[in-house]
Amino acid sequence: MDRPLRIIDLLLYAAEAFPSSGVVSARPGGITARATYPKVAARVAQLAGALQRAGVEVGDRVATFAFNSARHLELYYAISGMGAVCHTINPRLSDDQLIFIINHAQDRMIFCDPELWPRINALLPHLNTRPQVVVMTDAAGMAPMAGEVLCYEDIIATEPQTIDWPTLPERTASGLCYTSGTTGAPKGALYTHRSTVLHALYLSSSLPDSLKERRRVLPAVPLFHVNAWGLPYTAPLTGASLVMPGSSLDGPSLFALMDQEEVTSAWGVPTVWMGLLDEIDRMGRLPKGFNDLVVGGSAAAPSMINRFEDMGVNVCHAWGMTEMSPIGSQGNLTAHYDHAPLSEQRAQKAKQGRRMFGVDFKIVSDEGVRLPHDGKAVGNLYVRGNSVISAYYNNAPATTDAIDAEGWFFTGDIAKVDPDGYLTLVDRAKDLIKSGGEWISSIDLENAALSHADVAQCAVIAVKDDKWGERPLLVVVPVGDAPDPAVLIEHLAGSFARWQLPDSVVFMERLPLTATGKISKLTLRAELDPAMKRAAR
Ligand code: AMP
Repeated sequence: MDRPLRIIDLLLYAAEAFPSSGVVSARPGGITARATYPKVAARVAQLAGALQRAGVEVGDRVATFAFNSARHLELYYAISGMGAVCHTINPRLSDDQLIFIINHAQDRMIFCDPELWPRINALLPHLNTRPQVVVMTDAAGMAPMAGEVLCYEDIIATEPQTIDWPTLPERTASGLCYTSGTTGAPKGALYTHRSTVLHALYLSSSLPDSLKERRRVLPAVPLFHVNAWGLPYTAPLTGASLVMPGSSLDGPSLFALMDQEEVTSAWGVPTVWMGLLDEIDRMGRLPKGFNDLVVGGSAAAPSMINRFEDMGVNVCHAWGMTEMSPIGSQGNLTAHYDHAPLSEQRAQKAKQGRRMFGVDFKIVSDEGVRLPHDGKAVGNLYVRGNSVISAYYNNAPATTDAIDAEGWFFTGDIAKVDPDGYLTLVDRAKDLIKSGGEWISSIDLENAALSHADVAQCAVIAVKDDKWGERPLLVVVPVGDAPDPAVLIEHLAGSFARWQLPDSVVFMERLPLTATGKISKLTLRAELDPAMKRAAR
């Protein structure tokens, strides 16, 4: 039968098939909500009723401005379930970016966490629409708010707990997420019911050990960006429970929550896991039940992967993009490596993994020639698939730049692919360093530097050089006192040619982060390149 794929069916299925799984929400004060999937489904029906009563129609954009919580998950399902578009907004963006995004999306309503309400309230006068603001709290939590704001629990309280969910064409838009726009204006990736359900199916079949009934998954990756790597959809589909951490992603908070809730699988960017590792060291043990870690969003250093693996935590290094819904590849080892030496297994784990079903890779030279998947040829990575965007939302120029004549999407990443399908990200195209006409991978240098005991965090950026065009600069956050730069560079010398080594090292107390928690090389370059030039003069 030709039945359309619907997002709401993921939750309705969970409510029936996995009635004892569900969602736990934490806030700085402790656990605020615990709900089974049947309860979540009932509240989602109430919320959809409230959206209809507010006049939301099929195709309208309804925004969320919130950290990871059960209410945020409810919004994902209620908004798309009734045919509107769930537009997740990243609170870490600048005011100008937020105004641009809300105006571009023409959001009809904005649901925000109480602590984020002052931010939205201050932006309202600068918008060219007048979205209705709803604060995601109960009546008691509304005390500090003023003006025409609604209360989440109030608007859903009187709605029925069941609803006739509409049967929509499966290509109906369901979700909208803007890229962080570190260069130029943010661009919108629009998802459909079809792309989202297929992505959920692909992801659940790719990581069956992390996602199943009796597993408890912690998305440290935010629901406000890249759909929390698809977990809001895949967890209900597979019967896994979700443990939502709110806004506290520091090591001690994560450890305490994971320990208390016996989280089996935790997903997020490397910077978050460095904090957790420190706390694990301090406590001298793992959080109870902790079994596997999914890490991606930027390159996970082998030294970090090995520390977790040495403690018995299976690490899956994944790669993806907002434009891919977002997962493209995952690094769990195939049976082929079962009896391989540990060093070989670990080397494989450091790569970005094999493509997920439904995603195809293409490597192309700068001259436009397709390159072989031989583990050697390095080139521009293109992808295509059922959960990859075919265009940016209302942005023809950006679409023209990103989609090639054969319909492949240009990722902006430089990569190589092994004959058995393992992807290695060499660099983000704009982060590669070109010295004397030869390329140097910033990721390779960073991974090697992070294996030095005195390096807590690091980044390698290109600085302009009159003779070579660009030269690598190593920026280090030391564990304690700054080590001797010459010792650090010597540490790298074993793995690199002399000309690839950084000429100098800069020490910082912390590295600037982007709105999505990655190290902001753009900020580092802007700050350090002029400083290096002044120093050279
Ligand atoms: P975003 O859309 O914000 O998720 O950013 C996507 C980009 O993050 C990709 O194009 C890569 O450059 C980078 N990225 C994501 N995962 C990884 C990974 N595992 N290793 C290296 N870079 C990654």
